[in-house]
Amino acid sequence: MASYNLLLLPGDGIGPEVVAEVEKLVSWMSKTGMAKFETEKGLVGGSAYDAHGKSISEDHMKLAHEADAVLFGAVGGPKWDAVPYDVRPEAGLLRLRKDLGLFANLRPAICYPALADASSLKRDIIDGLDILILRELTGGVYFGEPKEIVTLENGEKRAVDTQVYTTHEIERIGRVAFELARKRNNRVTSSEKRNVMKSGVLWNQVITDLHKREFQDVKLDHMLADALGMQLVRWPKQFDVIVTDNLFGDMLSDVAAMLTGSLGMLPSASLGEEDPATGKRKALYEPVHGSAPDIAGKSLANPIAMIGSLGMALRYSFGLLEAADLVEKAVSNVLAEGLRTKDIAEPGRNAVSTTEMGDAILKEIQTLAR
Ligand code: NAD
Repeated sequence: MASYNLLLLPGDGIGPEVVAEVEKLVSWMSKTGMAKFETEKGLVGGSAYDAHGKSISEDHMKLAHEADAVLFGAVGGPKWDAVPYDVRPEAGLLRLRKDLGLFANLRPAICYPALADASSLKRDIIDGLDILILRELTGGVYFGEPKEIVTLENGEKRAVDTQVYTTHEIERIGRVAFELARKRNNRVTSSEKRNVMKSGVLWNQVITDLHKREFQDVKLDHMLADALGMQLVRWPKQFDVIVTDNLFGDMLSDVAAMLTGSLGMLPSASLGEEDPATGKRKALYEPVHGSAPDIAGKSLANPIAMIGSLGMALRYSFGLLEAADLVEKAVSNVLAEGLRTKDIAEPGRNAVSTTEMGDAILKEIQTLAR
């Protein structure tokens, strides 16, 4: 049986609490022979700063480079508000994303039937939603140069951000989108603003050419980013995979994610380039939420976003599709049975702790696997 090298970086606040629930699942999967994991643990964020004066040490960066996948909890908290900017907790996560070349950010928006009434949209619009937003993560206006605020001769200030994309950057994210769509419902919607932006014109051309050359079996649509924002709240089920740039992806993925309820439910994945020799990609899996200092240490955190991130690792890094389905089905069943952590419980209803939710999901996986 293949063995997978997993690096756990729990981080700060509720990070270690939710990663502990994932560790139970990983060790059970290894024990039963469903998959064999070699796990290592490292420090990142404030906990790394406390130990080494850095937001991630060189030794732990090396472990991240060597791992088949990194499972990341969350970083940050008021304890580290005053530390120097370049060693602040978030710098550890940004370094991981940059050094591992994680250019493709996958954010699924899935609405479990049991939680459909918690959405701000009507049940029939949201029930059964399963879409994937793919955001380009290392290019575009957040990184383009010049990026500056200058003082003009008349004393006024002028701020500049530069939106810049090359053919290569657009093509590699487009390729990930088409490949993901082939494993889902075979549809891609590419989004930009070609009506007002040159980068949008190039984005549209490159995606169209790539589709014609290599992915004609996948259905491709183009939609302007503002129209797509509107359609996401009007009829989100029309989409399968949405691919877009860093800026539009940042906003559209937050909109799509919140259609489905609490931050504690949202997993994500960030993938790097495929190594032509091994076919493997560097990958980091993390919940969308932060370290939630307001509830840390109280066993109130919802571990489902972190457990869903493990599910994504099983699917996208290890190709263990049955195990990934099992995790997703177990989460869905546990919710259908009415189990809720506080963040997703209706007011006045009983809520379970982080460990109770983790244990219930593990028990359901064991039942389903029998
Ligand atoms: P947050 O996501 O930590 O919390 C926002 C709200 O959602 C809080 O009320 C919190 O209790 C709740 N929440 C979050 N995750 C939850 C879960 N799993 N279960 C139940 N409730 C949950 O965002 P914030 O409060 O803006 O930031 C807190 C710290 O986290 C800051 O230091 C911030 O910089 C950091 N942060 C880190 C990451 C990351 O590590 N990727 C992401 C966002 C924020």
